[in-house]
Amino acid sequence: MRILVVEDEEAIARGLRFNFEREGYQVDLVSSGPAALELYESAQPPIDLVVLDLMLPEMSGYEICRALRRLDLDIPVLALTARTLSEDKIQAFDCGVDQYMTKPFSLPELLSRVRNLLDKRRRHLDRRTVRPTEDIVRFSDVAVDFGRFELRHLEEVHPLTTREQELLRYFLENDGVVLSRARLQSEVWKDSADISSRSIDNFVMRLRRMIEDDPSSPRHLLSVRGTGYRFVREPVTDPAAAEAEK
Ligand code: CA
Repeated sequence: MRILVVEDEEAIARGLRFNFEREGYQVDLVSSGPAALELYESAQPPIDLVVLDLMLPEMSGYEICRALRRLDLDIPVLALTARTLSEDKIQAFDCGVDQYMTKPFSLPELLSRVRNLLDKRRRHLDRRTVRPTEDIVRFSDVAVDFGRFELRHLEEVHPLTTREQELLRYFLENDGVVLSRARLQSEVWKDSADISSRSIDNFVMRLRRMIEDDPSSPRHLLSVRGTGYRFVREPVTDPAAAEAEK
């Protein structure tokens, strides 16, 4: 199980890492919101729990938690804070925090809450992998395993980040439909992150490298000039056209 610790006080961060690692968890430390969200989105294997300090520079822990919730409704979040007012707790729970501890906290209690949240997480993941067949989608020589965040193309296996997987799922759900970058931004990115057209294009390029036999002349993930993209699950093979291209 992998824990992301978002904490700007170095001594506390190091102490948490030491103790979590001793429990056998994999630990990532970051000290700001943007770094936390970036790591969360690209982490492979995915993060299983976020330990979040609420008082941080740049983005507050409340904002970070709201942003995390837009990416994943189920990721457990344990907030740490020096604040003890009940309004602060209410605000934290309103932002989607699962557990809340005030500093200075008791280490055994923190570890026990973490164990608890991770047990729940494990059960949640197990339930998801019990139905493997409906979570695997195939087209051409590609098999996408949504339960495992994995894509197979011929003999190659590619791990998928949460966002890559969501984008691919959206394309699959909209087979043959022209999707503008604006629509992808609002449907896949939920307008939350400041995602540029160029980064959408980068995501598409990464998917092409995974699913296309020849990413430079894609057959599934087509560009629609000036607009965006169109995914075609079963491209029509026209021998005459193929011949003419030679
Ligand atoms: Ca702090």
